[in-house]
Amino acid sequence: MKTASSKSELREIVRQWKRAGQIIGLVPTMGYFHKGHISLMERCRELADKVVVSIFVNPAQFGPEEDLDRYPRDIERDLSLSKDARVDLVFVPDAMELYPPGFQTWVVVEEVSQGLCGASRPGHFRGVATIVAKLFNIVQPDLALFGEKDYQQLQVIRQMVRDLDFPVEVVGHPTVREVDGLAMSSRNSYLSPSQRQTALCLKEALDLAEEMIHKGEQDAEIIKKEMAGLIQGYPETRIDYIVIAEPDTLTPMERVDLPAIVALAVFVGETRLIDNRLFH
Ligand code: AMP
Repeated sequence: MKTASSKSELREIVRQWKRAGQIIGLVPTMGYFHKGHISLMERCRELADKVVVSIFVNPAQFGPEEDLDRYPRDIERDLSLSKDARVDLVFVPDAMELYPPGFQTWVVVEEVSQGLCGASRPGHFRGVATIVAKLFNIVQPDLALFGEKDYQQLQVIRQMVRDLDFPVEVVGHPTVREVDGLAMSSRNSYLSPSQRQTALCLKEALDLAEEMIHKGEQDAEIIKKEMAGLIQGYPETRIDYIVIAEPDTLTPMERVDLPAIVALAVFVGETRLIDNRLFH
């Protein structure tokens, strides 16, 4: 496995692979790997000849009051896990490499960025779209993998690729969960043992929505109210949003017509967790 910390090193390696006609897959990450990340790498291994993983805690997607400084990091462990997953190249740039002084160009995906996480994290998807556009230009992958756990992020990237004609196939990957159903996330490491139990309320609220939708409930307000009630029954929870929306545009629905996505963000203590479920 190779590693590169500069754009020029990375480009030189990828250029040789491209010359040999190899299909390049990219998995962009912020590191601190769990099985969700590994699963993306393994899927990439199946789809591409060469697997490139980027590890970069992107300051541009964190708000001023958010967890940029304390975001968990363990680069040695990440490199070892990448090697086990048969990754070919890990790109580990520092912030100066990607945002040198004078940086001033941003990618803004307008409508699909606005609701859900975009509403409570202003500028977040501008940071995400910009870093992903840069990584696409630096790595020039044929395909790139993104987890459905960050469902809005996946749709923002799909929209950006369509609108800006990036020659990249965007592949969505199902959410990998702990045995009890909690969506894996690097931020789960912030949770105390009791908060870890409470964190299950996101999955339980989605189970409740599923049950109501399967029974024929079509009033989104009623479903969201029941979900909120369940979550509020747990200590230390604060609901950021619960949305039922059209899955591509993320336009909220009042009347639930399938397909629909139910997505939510909940603070458990100080830790903000997200989850979602798609209904066909
Ligand atoms: P992150 O390092 O959190 O920015 O995540 C890097 C990539 O892994 C993103 O495409 C995420 O959507 C994806 N990802 C994170 N957690 C999971 C999970 N539990 N299951 C599947 N994909 C995930």
